[in-house]
Amino acid sequence: MKEVIRDDTWEKIFKGVSATCQDEAYCTRFANAAWRYRAKVREIEARRATRQVKVLQSKRETPQKKVSGGFCLGKTKSGQPCRFKASCNGYCKKHTM
Ligand SMILES: [Zn+2]
Repeated sequence: MKEVIRDDTWEKIFKGVSATCQDEAYCTRFANAAWRYRAKVREIEARRATRQVKVLQSKRETPQKKVSGGFCLGKTKSGQPCRFKASCNGYCKKHTM
C-alpha cells in the first residue's frame, strides 16, 4: 500500500472531515483513504497521459498515404487532368458529384 504523505491535499481533506466529525482517529483514517484514492487517480491519469503521447508518436511514425498528391483524379471535358484540389476521396468537389 502506498505511504500516505500528509501534504496540503491531506491537510485539506482532514480539515474538511474534521468540520463534521470530532473523532480524530476516524478523520485521520478518512483523510488517509481519500488521499490514497486521489493518489491512485493521479497515477491512472498520468499513465493515461503517457499512453496518449505514445499513440501520437506512433501515428507520426507511420506516414499516411496521400491521395493523388492533392489534385483531383478526374478529367475536364477536353480530356485534360482536372487541376482542382482534391477533397478526401481523391476528387474535387465538382467531380465528386
Ligand atoms: Zn475535378
